[in-house]
Amino acid sequence: MEREGRFFTDEGETGVRCVLCSRRCKIPDGGFGACGVRGNRNRRGVLPFHGMITALALDPIEKKPLFHFRPGTDILSLGFAGCNLGCPFCQNWRISRGPSSGASVPGERMTPADIVSATLDRGVRTIAYTYSEPLVHAEFLLDCMSLARRRGLANVLVSNGCAETGVAGEILSLTDAANIDLKCFSPETYAGALGGGSLGGVFETVLAFIRLARAKGVHLEITTLVVPGMNDSVAELDACADFIASLGTWPGVPWHLSAYHPCYQWKAPPTDPDFLLRVRERVGKRLGFVYTGNISGAKNDTSCVDCGAILVRRLGYGTDAGGLAEPRDGELFFRCAKCGGETGIVA
Ligand code: SF4
Ligand code: SF4
Repeated sequence: MEREGRFFTDEGETGVRCVLCSRRCKIPDGGFGACGVRGNRNRRGVLPFHGMITALALDPIEKKPLFHFRPGTDILSLGFAGCNLGCPFCQNWRISRGPSSGASVPGERMTPADIVSATLDRGVRTIAYTYSEPLVHAEFLLDCMSLARRRGLANVLVSNGCAETGVAGEILSLTDAANIDLKCFSPETYAGALGGGSLGGVFETVLAFIRLARAKGVHLEITTLVVPGMNDSVAELDACADFIASLGTWPGVPWHLSAYHPCYQWKAPPTDPDFLLRVRERVGKRLGFVYTGNISGAKNDTSCVDCGAILVRRLGYGTDAGGLAEPRDGELFFRCAKCGGETGIVA
């Protein structure tokens, strides 16, 4: 099912250039770009992994994590091969790095029609494009997201946000909700430790992607994995918080602060849970919804910003959304069951 890709330019005798992300890889004949899944065959930009699904699982939507979009529902999660970053603590490194390293990647070819059928057969109404990096499969995403929309399903993108504005705009136009990583607030870290490439621009690309998602009205949540020694200074986490606060008025975009655990090439000890809780308390003055992930026992309930009533109680991925009242006629969002106020939580 190798298919010719859209987001390439012809560089003549010397190869093709992929223009999907800020790395803008020039790919010689027979080779692949840095993500390992976009290639050059006979001066044509090709997609040998088109439709290759590396994981298919029914998850609670809270696992994405999305806390303010259809809480307590299940979502069909699709995984893909390859990634245009190279995080040294990647939990999915076998499939994100597999194609670049020449290792075989397990997976099953599926068409958009297969995926939509699999979703409807399971009785769920939301598809997540997640695990590893879905954006490097933009052509497949566009086909699948369009079909899903036509069949009344919602599309959720879980991504590093590394795609240029043109392709980002096309994908975000078909996206209902997104959780985008803001991995740090440093151009140098994105380009260096996170493997974003020496041409630069990856940090600015991610910020632009996040702003574009907001501008297009996509329901947005942000995740930051707090990695000791990489992004855990007060100044850097405050800079992340300030950027997220700039995306909208109080209570703003939900922010998930996630604890790192040693994985792949990064051997630093895990994030101190108390540190994460202190960060949450400090940035809570600027952001109305800050959650912690990957630590046990932390409270992650959502309260009404008007009356303080608990809207959604959470324990792990379990939810009790008894504090929510159904939307009024024509509205998209739940109301607070106690005071009737707007919650911004998508029904
Ligand atoms: S790393 Fe980016 S520019 Fe390079 S081939 Fe992959 S998507 Fe294209
Ligand atoms: S962006 Fe995600 S999938 Fe890609 S290397 Fe980093 S952690 Fe892994």
